[in-house]
Amino acid sequence: MRRAGRVVADVLALMEEELKPGITTAQLDTIAEDYIRKAGARPSFKGYRGFPASICVSIDDEVVHGIPGSRVIEEGQVVSVDAGAIWQGYHGDAARTFYVGTPPADVARLIDTTRLALMAGIAAAVPGSHVEDVSGAVEDVAVEGRCDIVRPFVGHGIGTKMHEDLQVPNYRTGRPGAELGAGVCIAIEPMLALGSADVETLSDGWTVVTTDHSVAAHFEHTIAVTENGPVILTKA
Ligand code: MG
Repeated sequence: MRRAGRVVADVLALMEEELKPGITTAQLDTIAEDYIRKAGARPSFKGYRGFPASICVSIDDEVVHGIPGSRVIEEGQVVSVDAGAIWQGYHGDAARTFYVGTPPADVARLIDTTRLALMAGIAAAVPGSHVEDVSGAVEDVAVEGRCDIVRPFVGHGIGTKMHEDLQVPNYRTGRPGAELGAGVCIAIEPMLALGSADVETLSDGWTVVTTDHSVAAHFEHTIAVTENGPVILTKA
């Protein structure tokens, strides 16, 4: 999983380099897929429930699951890239939101808050903690940053499957949830919006957008809970 996570981390670093006005989201997808395959891994998203690409690229009011295509990247866009790779049967999954240019203050707050919510969730994933501890840590940062939490999509267990049974909500459920023992691997992935985080899925069957078209951000890491604390497997 470290190896798979390394590939995913490298892909996101590559996307940050390539994300410039004029490039299309399909070109980004091709660059990502080539990198994953050259690293000896496979893109886990491609063909997943029929998803046609190796990464998700979600722009502005798109929250997650945007399908790469002919859309051209422009200055002033909020661009979330989600990537997954399988190496020797083991999965890595991570996402980051980028801004093309210099973000206005409210968008900078959204992006920073989402990243910090992820980091707070990771810090809470220590042996003996429960899913609710992670969820609460994410929620507290989101509320502090005055961002709304997208609720229908949650983090997940990960290992030899991209999505394993364990669910990791980005908000308190009022139940402790599963205990996180050493050796448990999860993907934590807060999705936040500047306006209302009510979402709907477009007619392409994939792209999730905020109903009020407010901009959204998405950060994700695959982590392992260990005796020495949480280890980020998709760290840049
Ligand atoms: Mg995920």
